[in-house]
Amino acid sequence: MADDARFETRAIHVGQAPDEATGATIVPVYQTTTFTQQAIGKHRGFEYSRGANPTRQALEQALASLEGGRFGLSYGSGMAAIHGVMTLLRAGDHVVVCDDLYGGSYRLFTTIMPGFDVRFSFVDATRPEEIENAIQPNTKMLWMESPTNPMLRLIDLASCGDIAKRHGVQLVVDNTFATPYLQNPLELGAHIVVHSTTKYIGGHSDVIGGAAVVDDEETANRLQFNRNATGGIPGPWDAWLTLRGVKTLSVRMREHCANATRIAEFLVERPEVSRVHYPGLPGHPGHALAANQMRGFGGVVTLDLAGGASAAHALCGATQHFSLTEGLGGVESQIGYPWLMSHGASPPEEKLSKGITEGTVRLSVGIEHVDDLCADLAQALERTDA
Ligand SMILES: *Cc1c(COP(=O)(O)O)cnc(C)c1O
Repeated sequence: MADDARFETRAIHVGQAPDEATGATIVPVYQTTTFTQQAIGKHRGFEYSRGANPTRQALEQALASLEGGRFGLSYGSGMAAIHGVMTLLRAGDHVVVCDDLYGGSYRLFTTIMPGFDVRFSFVDATRPEEIENAIQPNTKMLWMESPTNPMLRLIDLASCGDIAKRHGVQLVVDNTFATPYLQNPLELGAHIVVHSTTKYIGGHSDVIGGAAVVDDEETANRLQFNRNATGGIPGPWDAWLTLRGVKTLSVRMREHCANATRIAEFLVERPEVSRVHYPGLPGHPGHALAANQMRGFGGVVTLDLAGGASAAHALCGATQHFSLTEGLGGVESQIGYPWLMSHGASPPEEKLSKGITEGTVRLSVGIEHVDDLCADLAQALERTDA
């Protein structure tokens, strides 16, 4: 019944009915490795927690509902989810990937997977013709992220879905930045959606996790089999914390989007800032696509400082409410320096080709009062001139 309801209602109720045994309103933390069977071969659907656990199942049902898929699988981290999807591939297979990719995915695709003879072509996926040109007879998957990190470029996911369909390959979308509140790739033609629930879905910077959502039963069964065979599950406490985050995703995302919009507009007016990258700004190259593909513009704002590296170091060291972290998506504001942090491992030419410079700073705008955040950035920007 709850499955027909709106996003906010499903986030709180799907998979989360009161506990049948006790009436507990909130899904309990089933901190148990194993389940007692009534007779040999007779059980209630749970045997051993690597295969299935009730707390984890509640999270998976909620996430599946929010992404509009029938099946959800949660993992011990976003990278475990991404690796779980990689286990669908075989030696000799090929994947076309957007070149503006999360650093951990890039590392997995360039260091681990080639050892299993799975190959990747990195393309500028903001131009759909480049994706199509890179498809080979052994291509099995298209792997996309939109908006991208940290430059917030937009990829047309419906076009990717068309290309995938035409070539009989699977489209996978890493929807971590947008969250299911702002974008549902399965509706745009994706076969698999992956998440780092560590970011907005968990939302409080206190639990690492990942998820995959699919609508196709065969793919779901293969993912479930492979996860049980390889073991990348989250524990029940982590699943419980993530599910607690899910309940407030909608209200947090509305606030993240509103605050990020205000901050982007504020930064545009600042003389210390040479460029602001935010899909909500009318001048952003992906603005029209974002307005069409997403229900809001997200909580991340990236800026280039006119004063380059020294200004970026000064800004990152001077903010009071934005903490200098590798993470994003928490209720607290975070500031990061892609050149040396999230993208520290890529060679300088590669960073520059993506638009990341020594003056680029990424903000994950939290849900503190926006006037406090603007005042904090104002005082910190004033110090970048010194
Ligand atoms: C953080 C992140 C990941 C990896 O997730 P972990 O939970 O840190 O393993 C994958 N994709 C994107 C877009 C991310 O931001």
